[in-house]
Amino acid sequence: MLIDYQTFHERTAAVLRRIAGLCEKARRSPTEVRLMPVTKNHPAAAAEYAARFGLASVGENRVQEAVDKRAQVTAALHWELIGHLQSNKARLAAAHFDRIQSVDSEKLLTALDRAAGELGKKLAVLLQINAGHDPAKFGVDPADAPRLLEFALTRPHLQVDGLMTVAPLSDDPAVAQRTFANLRLIRDDLSTRLGVPLRELSMGMSGDLDAAVAEGSTLVRIGTALYGPRIVPG
Ligand SMILES: *Cc1c(COP(=O)(O)O)cnc(C)c1O
Repeated sequence: MLIDYQTFHERTAAVLRRIAGLCEKARRSPTEVRLMPVTKNHPAAAAEYAARFGLASVGENRVQEAVDKRAQVTAALHWELIGHLQSNKARLAAAHFDRIQSVDSEKLLTALDRAAGELGKKLAVLLQINAGHDPAKFGVDPADAPRLLEFALTRPHLQVDGLMTVAPLSDDPAVAQRTFANLRLIRDDLSTRLGVPLRELSMGMSGDLDAAVAEGSTLVRIGTALYGPRIVPG
């Protein structure tokens, strides 16, 4: 069952206060960090809550689930794909998402570029980097990131906004910290080498928000801290 709006409002306000406090500590402006609620495994009303609060975008990790939900939501919202995407679903994803954060191969870039071209749109993407070198995580290996970015920059129907990562699961907060610091260094290096801003650094979830903001995140993807635990359909 989804929480009521009042609870969502309180939790969202608390997360925003937390982000503001972390920004102050890191001498960053709180306007540099956007909060994106992750509505996966929650009903369409979860996205309505986000819009009602005044947030700009929501994250989903499955294409079909997002397509079904988006059809039920009338509020103006950007929908972003944060879960792994297979090339055979690129067309559907390009049609229904405003941005794809989980792009990690040339094959996928090619499929998304072709689909965006056919749809007559410029599709925003982030490159997902396995900045924590975690075999359990998707994302391109940091060593292969320069080549992937060069390829992405030559796709006419794609616009590369920046990078995304998911930190390895760990009880040690230093692991997330290192992962996020690494993503920032990779961004700085790629940005200098290829002369592109790569402004967006999508990093940080409910469990590692603090480290992410401290290390320069511009977009935190928060599910559990806002909506509570997900009821995963069995
Ligand atoms: C589910 C998910 C999130 C949100 O995780 P929480 O721990 O619930 O905040 C963020 N990013 C990705 C890629 C996810 O799959």
